[in-house]
Amino acid sequence: MKNYKMYIGGEWVDSASGETFESLNPFTTEAWALIPRGNKEDVEKAVTAAQNAFENGEWRKMSASKRGGLLRKLGDLFSRDAELLARIETLDNGKPISDTLGQTRYLPEYFYYFGGLADKIEGTIVPVDKAEMFAFTRREPLGVCAAITPWNSPLMLAVWKLAPGLAAGNTFVLKPSEYTSATALELARLIEEAGFPPGVVNVLTGFGSEVGDPLINDPRVAKISFTGGPVAGKRVAEAAARGSKRVTLELGGKSPNIVFDDADLDNAIKGVAAGIFGASGQMCIAGSRLLIQKSIQEEFISKLSSFVSTIKMGDPLDPTTQMGPVATKPQFEKILEGIKAGKEEGANCVLGGKAAEFPECGKGWFIEPTIFNNANNQMHLAREEIFGPVLTCIPFEDENDAITIANDSPYGLASGVWSQNINRVLKMSERLQAGTVWINTYRVASYLMPAGGYKESGLGRENGIDAVNDYLQTKSVWVGTGEMPDPFILR
Ligand code: NAD
Repeated sequence: MKNYKMYIGGEWVDSASGETFESLNPFTTEAWALIPRGNKEDVEKAVTAAQNAFENGEWRKMSASKRGGLLRKLGDLFSRDAELLARIETLDNGKPISDTLGQTRYLPEYFYYFGGLADKIEGTIVPVDKAEMFAFTRREPLGVCAAITPWNSPLMLAVWKLAPGLAAGNTFVLKPSEYTSATALELARLIEEAGFPPGVVNVLTGFGSEVGDPLINDPRVAKISFTGGPVAGKRVAEAAARGSKRVTLELGGKSPNIVFDDADLDNAIKGVAAGIFGASGQMCIAGSRLLIQKSIQEEFISKLSSFVSTIKMGDPLDPTTQMGPVATKPQFEKILEGIKAGKEEGANCVLGGKAAEFPECGKGWFIEPTIFNNANNQMHLAREEIFGPVLTCIPFEDENDAITIANDSPYGLASGVWSQNINRVLKMSERLQAGTVWINTYRVASYLMPAGGYKESGLGRENGIDAVNDYLQTKSVWVGTGEMPDPFILR
């Protein structure tokens, strides 16, 4: 059993209470690590450490170029340990090693990109329209940022927050999900080795109500960047509103993946499968609603079902496994409930629809890849984020019908369009209410491309230059170069 400590103020510490909790391996369903169970007292220490690092320490005085250098060094160390990090992520959340390794080998690019941006954050000299005045702006960090991450992609989502925020000169308290805390602590080990001053990044482990809640409500926290479910997301938004804090929210979706009859169907089948069976569907960007043109509905569902039936499930540490278990027992139960509701409301379950009990799945929390055909957009299946390998197929007549169904959702995170008609796909990309539109592809992300949601899917953007701007504020500096005129008139 691995025994982890938290990372606060550059020290490896137990929780103030001395309590721990177990992290379970979703394949064996057994505990593999002990994680410190933080509380309010630990939050107090971590925020104090982050505030001291921001206000008084070496970090504040460090040149932006040196800050960027530290981020690039962190990228090198991350790259060195990519295999170890992938293995731990797989042990902790059950995602297949081929997927986690793909992520850990790519994530260093985020540190290189944002490290490179650190010393390109510039203010401007403004040709101000006032006599005898020199005016300029400074782009300044916000202060202490709270980064709160979920269990589905713990390492990737932590990097999406830390890399731009550190490039901008902020300090952090990172709180990973209680289900998957290990890789955030491994990341802290690399942050220490890279030479970041103590307190710049603190990693605090524990439960949402015991650690997350006091963290988001601490008045010294200037910004909260949160990825997770809608319930906790609303609490974060309320705490941010009460405390006038900046906030970035990524709250999931019910994304439409729209297949027209003029699509390359073989490609579309792979794209639809990537969108809902990759990572066992535990993706905020999951293409969980397949909108299928009626003229090809039966042919497409039949070919898709044949393809999906070949998916290899089993030990996520086996490099040939394509679908692992789902990450947590509550999530496993929630998915089964979603499937049951779908059956009860009359959608036609044409594949899967139950827990997978193949010998290669052992005791793990596996769900069979599930396809519901002939659903409608008002069903629970089409409105609620199930966050598992459950595809809901809804037929449509034409482009207008597809747009109406696609946009009839409280969410707006991602979408996919499959068609060979250039006019059609460009029109669709304009009309879809979603932060990302993938055309003839699905499930691709880059440090260069903004990611975020329309409507209830969230606020703000991660990745790309926009992400750094979200961790900065602008200060206007006026320098009078002449005599003060009449003091009673606003100039
Ligand atoms: P969650 O929203 O409860 O937890 C996400 C993070 O928020 C965790 O670190 C958690 O400890 C923290 N948190 C919880 N309550 C908090 C509070 N009051 N204050 C501050 N932080 C708090 O998500 P979950 O339990 O991991 O999953 C719940 C549902 O959310 C899932 O079933 C799934 O449908 C959805 N989900 C969405 C995403 C996404 O990427 N959008 C990711 C994971 C889960």
